[in-house]
Amino acid sequence: MNGLAAYASQDQNSRGRRFAEAPPDYRSEYQRDRDRIVHSAAFRRLEYKTQVFVNHEGDLFRTRLTHSLEVAQIARTVARSLSLNEDLAEAIALAHDLGHTPFGHAGQDALNHCMRPYGGFEHNAQSLRVVDELEDKYAAFRGLNLSFETREGILKHCSLKRARALGDVGQRFIRKQQPGPEAQLANVADEIAYNNHDVDDGLRARLLSIEQLRQVPLFARHHDLVLRTHSGLSPKQERHETIRRMINTLVTDLTEHTRARLARLKPGHPDEVRAMPRPLVGFGDEVQAENLELKRFLREQLYRHHQVYRMTVKAQRVVKDLFGALQADPRLLLPEFFVQAEIAAREQGARGCARVVADYIAGMTDRYAIDEHERLFDPRRLR
Ligand code: MG
Repeated sequence: MNGLAAYASQDQNSRGRRFAEAPPDYRSEYQRDRDRIVHSAAFRRLEYKTQVFVNHEGDLFRTRLTHSLEVAQIARTVARSLSLNEDLAEAIALAHDLGHTPFGHAGQDALNHCMRPYGGFEHNAQSLRVVDELEDKYAAFRGLNLSFETREGILKHCSLKRARALGDVGQRFIRKQQPGPEAQLANVADEIAYNNHDVDDGLRARLLSIEQLRQVPLFARHHDLVLRTHSGLSPKQERHETIRRMINTLVTDLTEHTRARLARLKPGHPDEVRAMPRPLVGFGDEVQAENLELKRFLREQLYRHHQVYRMTVKAQRVVKDLFGALQADPRLLLPEFFVQAEIAAREQGARGCARVVADYIAGMTDRYAIDEHERLFDPRRLR
């Protein structure tokens, strides 16, 4: 007995790895996945990638690395409390953003636009591509050779066309099934983490104010509570005390409602969780509605903020310029990417070459992309 519930993913019911490997000696299969993710180059680069704020704007804001750690922390807490597989939830959480382009969603949209004639670009599918294909340092296989369940969790959404090309992990999108329970958990933990840290970063960047945020019931409720309980707080304490209560409310609600569904539906195997018509892991209706209001607020007030918009347009221009120049003349790529582009062009024509350029750009950090743009376009830069 390892203390896991019957509905949890376990080594013995894993669908295994693409290339068979001997079981690890002293770790679980999912611990091995997590360790490979932490040691990957793409994971290290998360430190210099951001979602809303561009990396050089300040060291105070979340990066994709600290975001991924926050997601892992939330996912582990809930996994342990529900006797789910904590190692698997952690592995998925740490890997879920590995495919993100520089400049967050602005970069992803721009690259998708450039790649439209060649099959498109989607950061979530790219995360899977990073662990399946692009990390290249093991002698016996390409990628990190992660277990099915970790790969399934990384691929959160997927078009039918892409799903057909993906094989095993694409199947659930064709059959309209749910992912395993730890994947569902990592997905909700992602949402809890980014909504709350975007409130925090938005306030600290002065793009949002407390008064504005009080339109959001989830915020107002906890802010009132903080003001009733304490007096003479500094703005930093007031902000933090409110946000930590919001996170606690969301995590508690998620845990309790998921526990109640587990008790009612009694799944005896993770495949029973996959076969359910709706996700098993989630908030109750009330908190779900409050969470949606918070998301709507952030979309309108933060992600579409004038200052964020200007940065978004600049970021998109950088990505489009890079793609245009590198695709038109792949000799401008780093030599190792040029070799790959030539091979890909021979095998798959323009589509193959464009994919190598997209992989190269997607792998860039924010500051590398800005620097590379300068190197390519500023004639005063020699190298
Ligand atoms: Mg995320």
